[in-house]
Order: sequence, then C-alpha cells, then structure tokens
Amino acid sequence: MSDISDQYETVIGLEVHVQLSTRSKAFCADAAAFGGAPNTHISPISLGHPGTLPMLNREQVAYAVRLGLALGSRINSVNTFDRKNYFYADLPKGYQITQDRQPVCIGGAMDILVNDRHKSVRIHHIHMEEDAGKSMHDQRPDASLIDLNRAGVPLLEIVTEPDLRSPDEVDAFMSTMRRLVRYLDISDGNMEQGSMRCDVNVSVRRKGETAFGTRCEIKNLNSMRFARRAIAYEVRRQIDLIEAGGTVTQQTLNFDPDTGVTTPLRSKEDAHDYRYFPDPDLPPVVLSDGYIESVRVQMPLLPDALYRMFRTDYGLSDYDAALLTEEKAVALYFMDLCRHTPHFKATANLVINKILPWRDEAKQAPEQFPVPPVHLAEMIELIASGKLSNTAAYQQLLPAMMENAAQTPSALAQSLNLLQTGDADFLAQIVDEVLVANPDKVSAYRKGKKGLQGFFMGEIMRLSKGKADPKAVTPLLLQKLDAV
Ligand code: ADP
Ligand code: MG
Repeated sequence: MSDISDQYETVIGLEVHVQLSTRSKAFCADAAAFGGAPNTHISPISLGHPGTLPMLNREQVAYAVRLGLALGSRINSVNTFDRKNYFYADLPKGYQITQDRQPVCIGGAMDILVNDRHKSVRIHHIHMEEDAGKSMHDQRPDASLIDLNRAGVPLLEIVTEPDLRSPDEVDAFMSTMRRLVRYLDISDGNMEQGSMRCDVNVSVRRKGETAFGTRCEIKNLNSMRFARRAIAYEVRRQIDLIEAGGTVTQQTLNFDPDTGVTTPLRSKEDAHDYRYFPDPDLPPVVLSDGYIESVRVQMPLLPDALYRMFRTDYGLSDYDAALLTEEKAVALYFMDLCRHTPHFKATANLVINKILPWRDEAKQAPEQFPVPPVHLAEMIELIASGKLSNTAAYQQLLPAMMENAAQTPSALAQSLNLLQTGDADFLAQIVDEVLVANPDKVSAYRKGKKGLQGFFMGEIMRLSKGKADPKAVTPLLLQKLDAV
C-alpha cells in the first residue's frame, strides 16, 4: 500500500550557526575557548556594562572571508553591523550584534554527495554575529543559572536556499560543512559541544507543484539524530494537516527530543520585532580587493581539490578517495606517505586498514603512528617487489615494526625470517611435503580437477609461513603435479 506522503515533496532550507575558533571573542579580548569555569571568560564588555565599546576581531572577518571564498561566494566590500534587540537573561546588552543589511558573503554553493549522487546546494548568504550566553534551567530547583563565557563568541550564520529535499541531504550538508570548516581551520565543527547548530526550515508540497508550501522553522537543533527526527515528525504533521483540509501556518517551532514532537514557540503574527538598527558603535568595515586576495592566497588545500587529486593523480577509487579526504589530518598524512613511495593504492590500503583503526583505538593523530613514514614506505616496497607477502607484512612485520621503530623493515624482516624466497631447494622441499600429505587431492588433480592448484598454493604458503615466492613456486608445483 502506498503512503499518502509519497505524493508530497519535502523542501528544506537551513540556517547553520558555526562557532569560530578564534582566540578571543568577536568584539573584545575575552577568551573565546569552549568550557572553562562558568563566568571566567568575561569582562565589562562581555557583560554589556554601560560605557563599554566593542572592537571588531579581525580574525573573525578573515575566517568569514575564508569560508566565503571556499564556497564561491561574492565577498561584500562594505560590511556593516546591526543590533538585533531582544530581552533575555543570557544577553546582557539587550541586543545581539549581527549583520542584517550587508552580510559579509553573498551567494555561492556547496557540493554534497548523497547516495552516490552529487548535488549543489546554493548559499543565500553568510553573515557574522556573536553568540549569547548559556542559560541552565536544570541545575537547581529554585533558580536558573547563567554562564556568560559564550556571550560574544564569534559566529558565522550560513543561510542556504531552500534546495534540500530530504533528511539525508540535510545530514550530508551538515557533515560536508563540518568537514569544510575543519579543513579551513575556522571551527572545530563539533555539534555535541554546540560549535555547529542549525535551524531547519521545512515545508511540503504536492509532487509536480512549482510553488513552495508555507514553511515552519525548527530552532536550534544540535545533533543530526535530532534533526532527522524533527524533520520526519514535522513533514508528517504538515502532510496530515493538509490532507485533513487544513493549512500550514508559518511558525517557529521547538523540537523536544524526549517526546519526539515539535511545538510552537511563536507564530508569524507574534514574531519578535527585533527593531534592527545600525550599531552606532561599529563603523563599516571595508574589505579591499587586496585584502581578499591576501586571504585567498593563504587558503589551505580543500577536501574537493584533494579528492580530485587522489582520484586522478594517485589513481585511487572513488571510495578510497572519499574516505581519505574525510579528515584533513588523514589526507595530509596519506600525502606525506606518498612522498616516500610510488605505490599509492598499497599506501591507501595501509592507511585505511591499519593506521585508521589504530588511530581510533589509540585516540591519537595518524602522524603519531609509531612507525615513521620512510619505514612504512620501505615495507610497501618489500611487498611490491615480491620479497614479502601481504600476510607476513601485516600480521608479523608491522607489529614488530611498531615495537621496534629504530630498525629498518628489511632488517627486521630478515631477522624474523619473513622474506620470501625463490630458493629452489627450500621450495622443492615444501612442495614435496604438501604433495605427500595430500595424496587423494594429488590424484584428483591428476584426474582433471585442476582447480585444486589454489588449494596446494594455500598449503605451501601456510607451511612456508608466507615465505614462498608465488612466482618461483608455481612452476615448481605444476611441474611436480604433472610429473606422473
Ligand atoms: P527570513 O527568515 O528572513 O524570512 P527567508 O525567508 O529568506 O528568511 O528564509 C530563511 C530560511 O528558510 C532559508 O534557509 C530558506 O532557504 C528557507 N526557506 C524559505 N522558504 C522556504 C520554504 N517554502 N520551505 C522551506 N524552507 C524555506
Ligand atoms: Mg530567519
């Protein structure tokens, strides 16, 4: 049976808040670091005392321009700041400094990959603003507590066009954005700590319709799991409402993860009147072409460029290239290894199958792997040249190398007696042993079951502990099997 929701299409636009990893706050010298004992990263400016004046953090501007350039946005040369007025206890000034009229970046797009399909999501604009403090309502029964460490921490708000069509696409957008801000070194992109949060605007329309439906905005989702559940609930609610003959009214919603339900915070009619007006304390900031160029030339390598490089220059598969560009530290580490060896595919395998699991378990950066890149490259060379089997390399040599960083892989392999050998006497002896131990298989082979060659090779490798060089042993084996 088909569900009625199959006849509808979901339309989603995001407002993503990214907390910047500048040392100091957006408009004063207080530390912007996450955490710290409550109310220790504060000064009269963070506290909004009368008579204090804000001063723009130039790092925040540089970070915004970096993100804008990465997304192909136009950088606004004249930047102005506005006051967004509202009353809340964690906002001591009574207003938030933001950019309402002249945001720093306009337009642009980000490519996302969803179910093996590339899709471009357009960016409406990016503006700079400051965060509010944090209210805690669950610490004491008789009072709410307020921590102003976060008040004034610089944020970028990225507003997308309504281009997303499913929770999967939202998920892909958020992960791709997180990866990008990490590559750009402008934020840790950590959703759990609130460094990245999003407001999700959701509407539905019948398939084939061109006009958008009325949207609702779900505020402040700080995990992808919650965002998925909130969207699923909201889509269902809107469809059911329309199917029952009702109409969706534009609302701001809150999602409660405990109940799985969205509830109205406010409707359009009683929407906040923020009384935006230009902040008289902050003069316009003019970004010259020269300045924008100076940011552009210092742009780090970005994941898309690395991905293309791994595919075309290194000849890696789509899967390997995607996996190795997931994190900047891993991509850079892989590139570093590849400076020591031309065997890129084997190096990718080593990183994916050994270094990454080690990194996850040891909770260390990949470059902390206890074996230096030159030694890893030498091990790969031993395998490629047929001197060492993959099995011996991974199961015996590599663990020994990790214990013994000073010795070269060749010396270690030698002392562990792992090097493959084409030595005719040694090989002949092993082949004989295998044939003697399996008389029924030998006669089956001779009667025509040629597929048993694989079985014999397996036994030879096992008995020789991976040391038999397949290229040398195969002709020997065939010669003995065929000699009736
Ligand atoms: P404002 O908050 O100033 O009204 P917009 O209306 O431009 O701003 O949109 C805010 C966000 O809502 C953007 O992310 C945009 O993509 C999204 N959005 C706008 N219209 C719709 C719609 N019909 N359905 C879903 N999202 C929408
Ligand atoms: Mg809005």
